[in-house]
Amino acid sequence: MKNALERNINQSIPRYLDLLKALVSIPSISFDNFDQKYVEDSANAVKSLFEQAGFQNIQFLRPPSGRATVYAESLTSPDQPTVLLYAHHDVQPPMRTELWDTPPFEAIVKGDRIYGRGTADDKAGIITHFAATEQVRNLLGNKGPNLKFIIEGEEESGSAGFAQILKENAELLKCDAVIVADLGNFAKGTPSITTTLRGMSAISVTLRATKAPLHSGSWSGPIPDPGQALCKMIASLTDASGNILIPHFEDKLVKPTQEELESYKSLGMTEAIFRNDGGVLNNVVLHVPESELLISLWRKPSLVVTAMEIGSRKNAGNVLQDSAYARIGIRLAPGMDAEECTDMLIDFLKERVPNGMEFQVEREDGANPFVTDTEHPFFKKMSEAMGDAYGTPTKFIGCGASIPGAELFRNTFGDIPILLTGLEDPECNAHGENESLYLPDFEHGILAETLFFASIAKEGK
Ligand SMILES: [Zn+2]
Repeated sequence: MKNALERNINQSIPRYLDLLKALVSIPSISFDNFDQKYVEDSANAVKSLFEQAGFQNIQFLRPPSGRATVYAESLTSPDQPTVLLYAHHDVQPPMRTELWDTPPFEAIVKGDRIYGRGTADDKAGIITHFAATEQVRNLLGNKGPNLKFIIEGEEESGSAGFAQILKENAELLKCDAVIVADLGNFAKGTPSITTTLRGMSAISVTLRATKAPLHSGSWSGPIPDPGQALCKMIASLTDASGNILIPHFEDKLVKPTQEELESYKSLGMTEAIFRNDGGVLNNVVLHVPESELLISLWRKPSLVVTAMEIGSRKNAGNVLQDSAYARIGIRLAPGMDAEECTDMLIDFLKERVPNGMEFQVEREDGANPFVTDTEHPFFKKMSEAMGDAYGTPTKFIGCGASIPGAELFRNTFGDIPILLTGLEDPECNAHGENESLYLPDFEHGILAETLFFASIAKEGK
């Protein structure tokens, strides 16, 4: 079966690439300061793609912003499992246009990659779902799984309305598993399933000692300096290796499984690669040894002071500043709860305010981390299908950032497998200039998803 499928997909690739090119040609940037007409155009393009394929119940699901999510379905039988296929049709702005070697909204093949904004993130995800559906229908007809599509229109601008869309349409979207095709492979040619995502807690704090800034010669000495005080408070949050010192902060941390640990080890991440990719200065010593790099990135929380303001660099005079400001963000590791962690962070700082200074906190909406159930049979089948399609074993990887959608699916559908796949790779430069998709993996990805559909259909529900 695999060889015949491989041939069919290979023959159809020129057409799939044309479909991808057509989507890339629409600058569907979902940021308010860009023309939102193009997001609507791109929703319509996805809709007509689905119409031409004969999918049913095609409709726009609109969040408050109006940026349409496209829904469609290709159903077979109630006896078959139902998989919800997620991707997004909006894109990031082109960034610095002068750095693009080809026009950002014209998909152009050069060598083994196709260049253009959205080629990898995430218009390739849409075409992968579309092509795999077409392939499994050709192969199994009505004996394949039920497939539902949800193609979001505002992922890049923060998915603000996605929770509402899921909640209002929970019955329509009901499914046994979700495939989120918006992530990527650890390296090109290396099939990868992302099993964890980190979450986020963030607060802004202001520490104040006087009503206004004062002449430091006339006033400093008796009056405490909010700048130093805030620095000490922030410094008390971590030890010299960056470990967070808030009591019980990591109590709920989910440890990596043996399988995940072995997978991380097999990825061959070295300190040299890591330092080079991150542009780390030669004499800077990392917080963890080489063997713990990926665990630290994917499975541990990390605290970053993302902004600080005490007076301003431009007007740095001999002034005792009235206040000091900082924004503190913590990437949360799998198992941790964003609300709880934000509370703990605030309480810890409040207890350390010196000299009775005024302390103000603003909390941001956090994001919970995410863990996939790697024991579920669908997870194993996806892992096998990907290994089969790429011709090399599937790796389990983590992601240090957040994807709110994954957690929203979990909240809406409960404990079903949410499989995070995708076609980005370290060279794809998603969100940057000269974004591209690696063409051999475009084929591998379509084949993998088709094989997965076939494997879950075999036994029925
Ligand atoms: Zn994306």
